[in-house]
Amino acid sequence: MNDELRDLYQQVILDHSRKPRNHGRLEGECVHVHGDNPSCGDEIDLYVKFDAEGKIEDLKFDGQGCAISQASASMMTSKIKGKSAADAATMREDFRRIVMGDGAPQDEDALGELQLLEGVQKFPQRVKCAMLAWRALEQATAENAAKQG
Ligand code: ZN
Repeated sequence: MNDELRDLYQQVILDHSRKPRNHGRLEGECVHVHGDNPSCGDEIDLYVKFDAEGKIEDLKFDGQGCAISQASASMMTSKIKGKSAADAATMREDFRRIVMGDGAPQDEDALGELQLLEGVQKFPQRVKCAMLAWRALEQATAENAAKQG
């Protein structure tokens, strides 16, 4: 990572962790899941409202933890809002590839600033922090699918 990119990475992470987007809880009917990352002490409560086709209409998160986990949750909720079930699944897989260094993403453009988190692949403990919100989203998606029958 060059210096310029490292500065940008730190700015974006700090900005999102200090002023998290979509912070709080959703009112009304939604899927609520709790996730944690005991190795770092990160916790997240994620609230997701899906439409009948599984599109993510709205989502919010609440929680506490390190800057990476909070920034990743903030960035995830910003990027995933309004996405269809298929697009959300692609982004989830692409984000996993980026932070784990596990192959090229299928759609880099859709990830946008989320790509800045690829630096965590050098720090296995940090991968769990970055993935926490996405694992919670995966769980919420599964629970929604089960509910739909
Ligand atoms: Zn953490």
